[in-house]
Amino acid sequence: MVGAYIPGAEASRVAFFGLFALQHRGQESAGIAAADGHNINVHTDMGLVTQIFRERDFLPLSGEFAIGHTRYSTTGTSQLCNAQPLVVEGVAGKLALAHNGNIINASHLKEQLQKQWNCTFNTTTDSEVIAHLLANAPGSCWEERLFHCMRTLDGAFSLVAMTEDTVMAARDPLGIRPLCLGTLGDGWIIASETCALDHLGAEFLREVLPGEVLILDRNGMRSALREEPQRTRAMCIFEHIYFARPDSVLDGTLVYSARQEMGAQLAREHPVDADVVIGIPDSSTAAAVGYARESGIPYSDGLIKNRYVGRTFIEPEQRLRDLGVRQKFNPLPDVIRGQRLVVVDDSIVRGTTTPHVIRVLRRAGAKEIHIRVCAPPIKYPCYMGVDMADQDELIAANKTVEEIRELANADSLGYLSIEGLLKVSRGDKGGFCDACFTGNYPVPVQLHLGKLMLESDT
Ligand code: AMP
Repeated sequence: MVGAYIPGAEASRVAFFGLFALQHRGQESAGIAAADGHNINVHTDMGLVTQIFRERDFLPLSGEFAIGHTRYSTTGTSQLCNAQPLVVEGVAGKLALAHNGNIINASHLKEQLQKQWNCTFNTTTDSEVIAHLLANAPGSCWEERLFHCMRTLDGAFSLVAMTEDTVMAARDPLGIRPLCLGTLGDGWIIASETCALDHLGAEFLREVLPGEVLILDRNGMRSALREEPQRTRAMCIFEHIYFARPDSVLDGTLVYSARQEMGAQLAREHPVDADVVIGIPDSSTAAAVGYARESGIPYSDGLIKNRYVGRTFIEPEQRLRDLGVRQKFNPLPDVIRGQRLVVVDDSIVRGTTTPHVIRVLRRAGAKEIHIRVCAPPIKYPCYMGVDMADQDELIAANKTVEEIRELANADSLGYLSIEGLLKVSRGDKGGFCDACFTGNYPVPVQLHLGKLMLESDT
């Protein structure tokens, strides 16, 4: 997700390169909305950012203001009508909005918005609920309307929104999903991760604070914080483990360094006699390097990833995920043959990847395979914006570690402990959501919520 106000320039071009850097956060659909002081225009489509935007698509996207989004579906199926940014009209005017997160009380709010404002919903996303709520919120300025949304919405939201002449941003009071602020010349950039700022040549100023609202317009940048006392923070720890790019800074820590620390902790918790440490590329590389350093066992590349295969997990269907995993990795037989391997993985969710990787490595002649997972067992679904699968699909919710080891055909299997993870993950501010491991959700959730909860009542 990205927002840009670039005086005197076409902000949609900047948004495009920002989205390109954030492609890992969503590969189902993408879009950009741009505004020139009078009109809002939007272009969305299914697919990757580079597939969606051709030169001619930028012609209508003129203006100094732009917001953009790459979608990874959490609420609402993967289809064009659910692509973002969404454009709605309410009593406060016309508004484009892009959202990262998940709103737990979306169904209830949707009913209220339909009754009170006669809002028509064209998507099955929770993001459209936020858009209508904001466009119809009470208040005399956007800060007040955004604070109204913050009080009303339960769950996770980092969002960017745009009128004809203003870009705004907000982060939920728990700071569950990331959001950062930077400058580009005399312009301003908001992005989900700092890696987007780096690629744009923008200067990283700071992370957007939990409960903060930012307004970017021809008067510059304004910030406001929710007045009520902040509750504890609950930054998603899975961003540190897997989701964010390793070259991003989250909570004041470079993600790559955080993952190395996790790998080192994993080595302390689950040592093993072995010849070589490999990671499952790319997401486990930093953790594998950390494991190798701590254990003294040499690190090597052992699997080569076809880098044109995207994040297979992000595929919304299991059939596509299976196919994707098969296309993804190829072993380096000279590294693997006859060796006792430590194979570091960032996480096991449904258990699609690990057995496949082990099969590939055994075929390449590995003597022993010791799987080390840089996350605790994932036992609970995420209702905060990571599409983790339903609980009955989560392998660790239904099987013991020994059963998973056996099923995957590993010689040993060790998961990072929750205590160990938290010990090495204390960013400069601390306070994580670790509900996928513990079931302790930072806001009360109804456990029957599902990805398709808004599907039946459009
Ligand atoms: P699985 O094959 O279902 O066990 O998925 C595990 C692999 O998918 C991990 O090793 C990660 O690389 C990746 N992954 C884990 N969680 C997610 C997620 N929520 N979205 C996308 N990819 C994920």
